[in-house]
Amino acid sequence: MNFQLGLIGYPLGHSLSPKIHKAALRSCGLEGDYSLFLVHPENHQRLKSLLARVRSGELTGLNVTIPHKQNVIPLLDELTPTAKAIGAVNTIFIQKDKLTGDNTDAPGFLADLRRFLTAETWRNRNTNWALVIGAGGAARAVFYSLANSGWKVTVTARCPEQAQDLIAQFPIFDDRLSNIKYHPNAICSLTSDLSLIVNATSVGMSPDIHSSPWPDGLAFPENAFVYDLVYNPRKTKLFKDACNAGLPAATGLGMLVEQAALSFEIWTGHTPPRDALIAAVH
Ligand code: NAP
Repeated sequence: MNFQLGLIGYPLGHSLSPKIHKAALRSCGLEGDYSLFLVHPENHQRLKSLLARVRSGELTGLNVTIPHKQNVIPLLDELTPTAKAIGAVNTIFIQKDKLTGDNTDAPGFLADLRRFLTAETWRNRNTNWALVIGAGGAARAVFYSLANSGWKVTVTARCPEQAQDLIAQFPIFDDRLSNIKYHPNAICSLTSDLSLIVNATSVGMSPDIHSSPWPDGLAFPENAFVYDLVYNPRKTKLFKDACNAGLPAATGLGMLVEQAALSFEIWTGHTPPRDALIAAVH
């Protein structure tokens, strides 16, 4: 079989996905390719015609990124429970003749996070708080995966209505969720209870490499793990500040690889070796 894969988004200039998926094809000994499909936010016709190519079998499957993760949903036949709960799709495939949307960002984040956390931090996830900074698309996937695996989660965003909307989307986890103001005093009042801080904003991403979403001058909690979804640069200011404060920390390259590997498994049924994928983008 020849696996024709690709990514829909706009812009796509710096996408690492082709390198990751081509390494996956190579290391699994499969034939195929991974192409970039630039689709302008207003170009619904092109979006529809790419999905028709998946339906016809010409394309095996597609990844979806900004700005189409939500607007592909009405064009699909079915969503997996994860994609439905998050309200966003990053992987499209055919299942039992139905054009189906899944979201591998959520399990990808959790799988990478679990590699770093101590057994004790993981065990205490329902007593300590995780703080998610940001309330955009990636924050929803992170928020869902944490709440769904038992964490108490609080979200902070510069637009409080967005943080409130995010919580309202998950009434099932209501008793374990909260939101706080994106203000040093509000964050400070919570720091002693935090065991995990996740940056799900784009703050710190290249070329804005000297910025951090963590408030200036505010000490980090003593025992928290800091996970920055941003992976460009590999060492963000938040990551470096956390390390300098003696905290364990990671940036988002592992999540990027993990979500890609999970999409690849859905499309091909093969499990690509994670080391080979990481090596392809280092
Ligand atoms: P998005 O939907 O555009 O959301 C971005 C969020 O960041 C919004 O809440 C936005 O707030 C907030 N934000 C932007 N600038 C800010 C600032 N100066 N101060 C405070 N908040 C700010 O983007 P996304 O898809 O969620 O992606 C967010 C980041 O995660 C990106 O850097 C992306 O590369 C990264 N990401 C990584 C992975 C991975 O696999 N590692 C996967 C997905 C995303 P407003 O709405 O107020 O602008």
